[in-house]
Amino acid sequence: MSDPETRDPTTIECRQIADLLGDYLDGTLPKSTHELLEWHIEGCPPCVAFVKTYRGTINAATKLREVEVPKELKKRLLAVLRSQRDSRRPIA
Ligand SMILES: [Zn+2]
Repeated sequence: MSDPETRDPTTIECRQIADLLGDYLDGTLPKSTHELLEWHIEGCPPCVAFVKTYRGTINAATKLREVEVPKELKKRLLAVLRSQRDSRRPIA
């Protein structure tokens, strides 16, 4: 069941997933936000692909081209990946 006309103030948008995903995977999100994010991802195929991409290719951003992720989301993900790369400095 999908009802795109329904606007629930407690829902989060895809663009917010990108901002929250790092903390989500680190387990540092507040419980309510964590659940909200999981709830969103369960009903949002683009975000499922997004999470898989994030998890699987954290150091291989070039692979993003092969994944069907909305353009804006991809931009966000790249920005997140870059900031993480800057702070963690993985072996290149
Ligand atoms: Zn989404």
